[in-house]
Amino acid sequence: MSHLHYPEVTEYRLPRKNIIAISCIDLRLTDELLNFLHFDNLTNRYDHFALAGTSVSIGATRKEHRALFKEDMLNDFDSFKHWKKTLYEHIQIAIDLHQIADVYIIEHEDCGAYRTFLKDGDFTTPEDEIKCHKEFAVALSKEIRDEYNKLNVHCFMIDIRGNVQLLDTSTVS
Ligand SMILES: [Zn+2]
Repeated sequence: MSHLHYPEVTEYRLPRKNIIAISCIDLRLTDELLNFLHFDNLTNRYDHFALAGTSVSIGATRKEHRALFKEDMLNDFDSFKHWKKTLYEHIQIAIDLHQIADVYIIEHEDCGAYRTFLKDGDFTTPEDEIKCHKEFAVALSKEIRDEYNKLNVHCFMIDIRGNVQLLDTSTVS
């Protein structure tokens, strides 16, 4: 029996077509993530792209977010520019091959990448943690919508138990 909390169906428009799910690589939440996608009737309807930290790494490519990163992380990963390039190339492939119409950006609680990449990524309160994830997720959502103007983008936060909350939603088509 499941006691998980998921967003209400009224909070965002459920995808009519295929999607790409962008998540962290975190191994603790793989099955919880898939449970949520199945709950949204997306079984066999999603491409899955996983990168450490979900949206945070793309933040390093953004002028206004770069100062939040540890210097050595920016050097180690060449300011994460190739992460963004690879992500965008996969979104394009998902559009071309599977005609995706929606993007799910799925952030998660207790993300090691946030701790590793950011100067202040070791959050003291859940509110601070969610606020930071939301900032990066919404910024990525906006960039994806600017690049691919027909995609609907929904941002979520999943906790360690697998509960999911909606952070942001944008439906254009
Ligand atoms: Zn993570």
